[in-house]
Amino acid sequence: MAGSKGSRGNIGDPPGGGDYQALTAGSADVNTVTTADGILRYVSSATLRLFGWEPSALEGKQFESFLHPDDINAWRDGGAELAAGRVTTTAYRFRRRDGSFRWSEATSRRVEADGRDVIVSTIRDIEQRRKAEAILQRRAFTDPLTEVANRFVLMDRMHQALNRLRRGTGLLAVLYLDLDRFKVVNDSLGHRIGDAVLLKMAERLTHHLRPADTLARLGGDEFVILAEDIENEEAVLELGTRIVEAGRDPFRIGAEEFVCTVSIGIAWASDGCRNAEELLQEADLALYRAKERGRDRVDLFDEELRSQAVGKVGTERMLRRALKEHQIVVEYQPVLDLRRARITGAEALVRIRDPERGLLKPDAFLDVAVESGLLTAMDEHVMADAIQRSSDWNQRFAGNELAEIAINITARHLSDAGFPKAVVGELDASGVPRGNLQIEVTEQVLMDVSNSAMSGLRELRDAGVKVGLDDFGTGYSSLSYLRQFPLDFVKIDPSLIHDLVRTEGDRAIVAATIGLCHALDLLVVAEGVETRDQLDILGALDCDRIQGFLLAESGEPGALEELVETRSSPALQR
Ligand code: C2E
Ligand code: CA
Ligand code: CA
Repeated sequence: MAGSKGSRGNIGDPPGGGDYQALTAGSADVNTVTTADGILRYVSSATLRLFGWEPSALEGKQFESFLHPDDINAWRDGGAELAAGRVTTTAYRFRRRDGSFRWSEATSRRVEADGRDVIVSTIRDIEQRRKAEAILQRRAFTDPLTEVANRFVLMDRMHQALNRLRRGTGLLAVLYLDLDRFKVVNDSLGHRIGDAVLLKMAERLTHHLRPADTLARLGGDEFVILAEDIENEEAVLELGTRIVEAGRDPFRIGAEEFVCTVSIGIAWASDGCRNAEELLQEADLALYRAKERGRDRVDLFDEELRSQAVGKVGTERMLRRALKEHQIVVEYQPVLDLRRARITGAEALVRIRDPERGLLKPDAFLDVAVESGLLTAMDEHVMADAIQRSSDWNQRFAGNELAEIAINITARHLSDAGFPKAVVGELDASGVPRGNLQIEVTEQVLMDVSNSAMSGLRELRDAGVKVGLDDFGTGYSSLSYLRQFPLDFVKIDPSLIHDLVRTEGDRAIVAATIGLCHALDLLVVAEGVETRDQLDILGALDCDRIQGFLLAESGEPGALEELVETRSSPALQR
């Protein structure tokens, strides 16, 4: 950041007499002054240092002439805004003395000095932020470890391929692969070797692809190949068999050599009206059976498996019954305030008590709950429970601990015009301060094209309810979102926390995210904190709050109360 305190230094003193002294004297924040037509009249010493210039090199020059050509239009748009009397914030690359460009951001306003219109600007160095943003962008489309496509890109390509299939002929095949016993390699030889295996695996697979095929990694040791224009079933099977055979070659990593075979499930479509998610699920079911049948082999999706897929219908039936028979259970996971070492609140997480299978987590039913529309009813139940809980805890802990309660809400629910009023009504009736309820939404809500979810969110926020962005770091996750949307807090996804200790890139992203959030007055919660080392790094990065297994897993309300009273958690031991 361009430290504004340095603006009193010699080299940065206003050139050309004391004309602009009055402007800069009152405010530590003014970094440049230009005339209304863009001639630089004053540049603070901190700003000069940032770009490596001497005052004489800038004084009297057109500001624009130092801009990166691609940023001139944005700069001129800002100029038009200024002319209309508005304060503007513009990001641009400014040329340094060594010829390189550095990202900066100027917040400018027009003021009158000595009867003349001038523009005063505060310059911020946003180079680090831009770098972090570029990394995040790449993460949105590629798997960070192997740099092959991620799930998002795979699904997009599948939709496109199905569209083409509607017009043409041939087959579209989806090969779902996973390494046999990868977990063992990873657990016994360590993550470093595990990662190296995954990298080599991605290389091997790439070798078997034709140029138009897509290879994606879905996480862990799961890869998917999308192959278009396949002649017939046999050709798909042949491709799968070739990959399985190649999988029997040993991997050599450093001094180690070991075999890690591959299992593959295949599904295909000859009809463009098929659904991409369904096709992927079919391949996954076939993979599951390949594993059951002994691994190191290929299996094809068939009618027998189709009848299993119908299991979704069963899940939906189970959900309806759970709603009717009050088998929805709400667990709570505590959130720790790092500076105060206090458990400030908890997140409500839904579970279903299944008579046969015990307590089910969302991964067993969330997809079906969303598709069937039943999630809204479940969330209503969760919210009522959470508000009641918050009211109890407020009395028990006098608002010192467990005061805030977070719930997860979907775009569909927020789009319901009556929802915000119902929330506020429920809060007021229970006596829970509105600001104690935190609504967690994902990017999908912020990107809702109809904007109805967004207006629901605004209405809630205007009423005093807190709003947070969940799973930051997974989707498009642009840092600029944080600036654009009405938010109070941000939850950093466990995938960014997981490698905090060993990956500098992830540390840089987390640091930049925390920095920007604080500049925007947003609280930062790091999720998925499992180790002391992660906690220490987050503390050093000035993270506000954490959540994760290190503090506690989600549990019944009683377990949280006990935790608050006994403080028996490794995260609370200093
Ligand atoms: P989420 O909102 O990101 O919730 C955090 C998830 O991470 C929870 O999984 C939690 O148990 C898990 N978790 C917490 N600490 C750690 C950790 O240290 N390490 C690891 N590996 N995981 C940790 P859960 O309960 O299975 O929930 C999964 C997702 O389901 C949630 O992700 C949320 O998106 C959704 N969900 C859960 N409850 C509800 C609900 O009531 N309504 C809605 N709409 N969605 C819900
Ligand atoms: Ca959440
Ligand atoms: Ca999350």
